Amino acid sequence: AKEMGGDNVQFYTAAMNDRLGERMLIEGALRSALERNEFVLHYQPQTDIVAGRIVGMEALIRWQHPELGMVAPNRFIPLAEETGQILPVGAWVLRTACEQLVAWRRAGHHGLRMAVNVSARQMAEKDFVQSVAQVLADTGLPPSCLELELTESQVMNDIEHAIAVMHELKKLGVLLAIDDFGTGYSSLAHLKRFEIDVLKIDQTFVRDLTVDPDDAAIVTTIIALANNLGLDVISEGVETVEQLEFLRQHGCRQMQGYYFSRPAPAAVIEATLRDDAER
Ligand code: C2E
Ligand code: CA
Ligand code: CA
Ligand code: CA
Repeated sequence: AKEMGGDNVQFYTAAMNDRLGERMLIEGALRSALERNEFVLHYQPQTDIVAGRIVGMEALIRWQHPELGMVAPNRFIPLAEETGQILPVGAWVLRTACEQLVAWRRAGHHGLRMAVNVSARQMAEKDFVQSVAQVLADTGLPPSCLELELTESQVMNDIEHAIAVMHELKKLGVLLAIDDFGTGYSSLAHLKRFEIDVLKIDQTFVRDLTVDPDDAAIVTTIIALANNLGLDVISEGVETVEQLEFLRQHGCRQMQGYYFSRPAPAAVIEATLRDDAER
């Protein structure tokens, strides 16, 4: 049977023997996933280690299919982008994440931002900025509490369009982050033109940080670059205290990763937030 990962049910059909079969299966199932409420968001805390508190959350989609089990985003997001299904899915993610932060704020958890991943396909839509404005208006979430994560490669894909969209988004007052920074091919000249607030250091550099001098050099350079440009910098994929120490010593104060918390359902995160507030 095909390995589905984690504690998921094993599911096997002849069609899944090949990539095309799996593709068709997922594509078909995706079409009804939204109306069947098969998606949930998990949230992963972003911690400011100097302030010693959680400053944000990243919303990460999870798809629980009745037969396929938990389908990892890496298996369906790229496909959903190709087919355009990412548009309704992405809209659902944005609205749900904003509603969740509003609920947490009502429960007294202020000073948090919600980071939402935006796909290239969403950003290419003519009414994308308008749809963000609509969600903010409907939910009442202050724009400065919403952070949109754009990957470096998606921004570079159509740079002039991306710069124009970023400009419109900044006019709304939302925060912008470049995700997976260092993996794409944006030059410093480009970076200067991006109206961004945050650089997210890709986890592939963080992973071997303490053993690979090249990764260490890349990470310290990105941190210095962000600090010098007046941008926030956050490291993703922080799993060990050694990584944390290295990052702290080199001037990165915001971190996200299993060391702090795995992405978890809202109810679990709520307990974490309560503990965080009491500390
Ligand atoms: P990403 O945006 O780079 O998200 C970070 C990924 O790293 C997440 O995987 C997260 O669970 C994982 N992660 C967090 N901490 C650690 C750690 O300490 N160690 C390791 N090894 N991994 C860690 P996930 O949730 O499977 O998501 C994978 C990718 O799928 C995301 O990468 C993002 O590109 C995409 N994705 C997830 N949710 C959404 C969404 O709502 N919309 C869009 N467009 N893409 C999404
Ligand atoms: Ca992300
Ligand atoms: Ca990332
Ligand atoms: Ca990454």
